[in-house]
This record gives sequence, structure tokens and C-alpha cells, in this order.
Amino acid sequence: MLKIVTILGARPQFIKAGSVSREISKCDTLHEIIVHTGQHYDTNMSDVFFDEMQIPKPTYFLGIGGNSHGAMTGQMIEKIEQVLLKEKPDWVLVYGDTNSTLAGAIAASKLHIKVAHVEAGLRSFNMAMPEEVNRILTDRISSILFCPTKIAIQNLDNEGVSKWGARVELVGDVMQDGALFYKGLAVKPNNLELTGEFILSTIHRAENTDCIDRLTSIVESLNIIAKSIPIVLPLHPRTKSKLEGLQFKLSSSIKVISPVGYLNMVWLIDNCKLVMTDSGGLQKEAFFFSKPCITLRDETEWVELVHHNFNVLAGADKKNILSAFNEYIFNDQYGIDLYGNGFASNKIINSILNY
Ligand code: UDP
Repeated sequence: MLKIVTILGARPQFIKAGSVSREISKCDTLHEIIVHTGQHYDTNMSDVFFDEMQIPKPTYFLGIGGNSHGAMTGQMIEKIEQVLLKEKPDWVLVYGDTNSTLAGAIAASKLHIKVAHVEAGLRSFNMAMPEEVNRILTDRISSILFCPTKIAIQNLDNEGVSKWGARVELVGDVMQDGALFYKGLAVKPNNLELTGEFILSTIHRAENTDCIDRLTSIVESLNIIAKSIPIVLPLHPRTKSKLEGLQFKLSSSIKVISPVGYLNMVWLIDNCKLVMTDSGGLQKEAFFFSKPCITLRDETEWVELVHHNFNVLAGADKKNILSAFNEYIFNDQYGIDLYGNGFASNKIINSILNY
């Protein structure tokens, strides 16, 4: 029996890990122990969140969050180390690019426990993003790098992965496995009055929320667009508090709602006309649900979506956002296989079993 400790923290990681955990639970030669670091804890991550998404509940909840990056990462390393010393797993499984990802990888590698990194090799080439630092360092100390895309493999090759001896595998994207699983379970958010078409938007990335010029320009653009089609905006707490300090307000044509559970989110993605976001995950989900996406960032890790015109990078510039909305011709041939068509979790499990 192989023992795996999975380290999770932020909501996107639960979405990503859900499909893999469901696969592990079907396999009688693997035993998974889930550690929830507590990073980004919010009410949508309560028991209801785990139940509605059919994700196994964590065995350990470390309760870390709300501190500076350094304090948070340091406390996580310390507490994850204690769990690893107690559980003595064969593998530590980490997802994505958060502080929890990096802390899990560091704690494991110092104890000579093998690390498997899901969503390896992604790069924005913007080292000012904390996520970029987390990804690069995690990749460097992992034994298996599970890549979602060919470009991720190329990125690792360019960094000389063959010299550090990690196993690199193209498995596809676990979020596509999730999209297929959750599509049939989607639920319309309660109390959301919608008739006809709407745009789904999210804004939460520090580069937008922490820069008044960028945030103002995004809000002004959304206000203009909302005159022609309603916008539904599940508002991240960080963005909410930043907006309170802005003189410029969101127009009443924007339906601001609290962050929603994942089954509600899937409903919104599946039923909207267009996605406008600075989220990484949502860019891909737009593609999985055959929706065009305007990305409110200057770069993306999901460059294949941009290359194929499913996604356009508009940044935070009003002129660019409005011209993306008014003029951009999106590709509508969504059948193309960019992310493995839903078999990533299965490949990950087989690879760990056969390592
Ligand atoms: N999400 C959600 N409810 C919300 C906002 C986002 O379920 O109110 C989901 C979204 O669909 C995506 C994931 O959370 O799967 C992405 O989270 P986020 O945008 O915070 O992070 P990123 O993908 O940029 O790391």
C-alpha cells in the first residue's frame, strides 16, 4: 500500500485535487491523507463545500492563513513537517502554485520524501507574481512533474529539467476532469435574477486589486460593457475591500454577488455568454464550457488558449478591454484537445503506482 499525503490550501486546489482524490479512493493499493493548510479559508470551504463537490474531507486542518507570505509559508513548512514525520508517506502530492504548494514541497524534500507536482511547468515569466516563484521552486524539488500542456514541458526543457533528473509527464489538465464531472451537477445560484444573456466576471489577482489605476480602469470598462449586457460578478473579499476605497463605483447593471460554491460557479460558466477574468482557472473553464474569454491580465500561463483565439489578453487597459469586447473575433471550434480531454487524474495515479 502506497501512502500519499496531499497538501491543499486554496479553493482552486480543492477543485483540482477532487478528481485525483476520487480516483485514489477507487484504488485499493493507494491510501491518501489530505492536509488542508487553511490558506484562503472562506465560508465556501466549509463542510458543505467538500460535500457538494464530493471531495474527501481533510484529515488535518492546519489553520494557517491571513499572515504575510513569509510567515504563512514558514508556519506551513513547520506544521506540514510534523504531519509528514507522523504519517511517513511515500509521496507528497502538491497542486498548482500557492504558498501551500511550495511549503508542502519544501517540507517533503527536506525529509527525503518524494514530491509529485500537478500543474508543473507553467510559467507566466513574471517573477513579480508570488505564484511564479512558488511554481519554479516547487518544480525544482519534485520527483515527478505532471504537466498539463506541451508548452509546460517545453518550459521545463528550457530550464534544463533533464539535468536535475525529475520525471516529466504530459498528463493533461485535472481541471478538465473536474469540468466533465461537475457539469451535470451544476446549480443556479439562489436569488440571482437573470433573464437572457450575461457576462461572468471575476477579479481577484493582486496585480489588479493592489493597483488603483488598473482596478479603476477595469471597473470603468465593466461599467461601460454592462450598459449593453448584464455582468455577474462574484466578488472576492480582497477586491471588495479595495473597491470600497475607490471613488469610482461599480454600476448597478453589474450584479455583484458573494463568492459562490463551485456547483453555482459551474452553472454560471455554463450559462454565460462570455467570461471576463483575471483568474487562471476560469480561463480554462471558459474553454471547457465553450465560452470565449477576455483575460484581464498582461500575460497568461495558458498561452495555447490565446494562440488558438479562444482567449484574448486585454490587460487592464480600458481601450484594450473595450476593443476585445467589441471587435475581437473568437475561435468557436472548441472540440480541439488542448488539455487531455479528462484523463489527467487517471494518468497521474498510474504514474505514481508505476514509479
Ligand atoms: N470559483 C468559484 N467561486 C467563485 C470564484 C471562483 O468556485 O466565486 C472557482 C473558479 O471557477 C475556478 C477557481 O475557483 O475554478 C479559481 O479560483 P481563483 O480565480 O481564485 O484562482 P486562480 O485560478 O486564479 O488560481
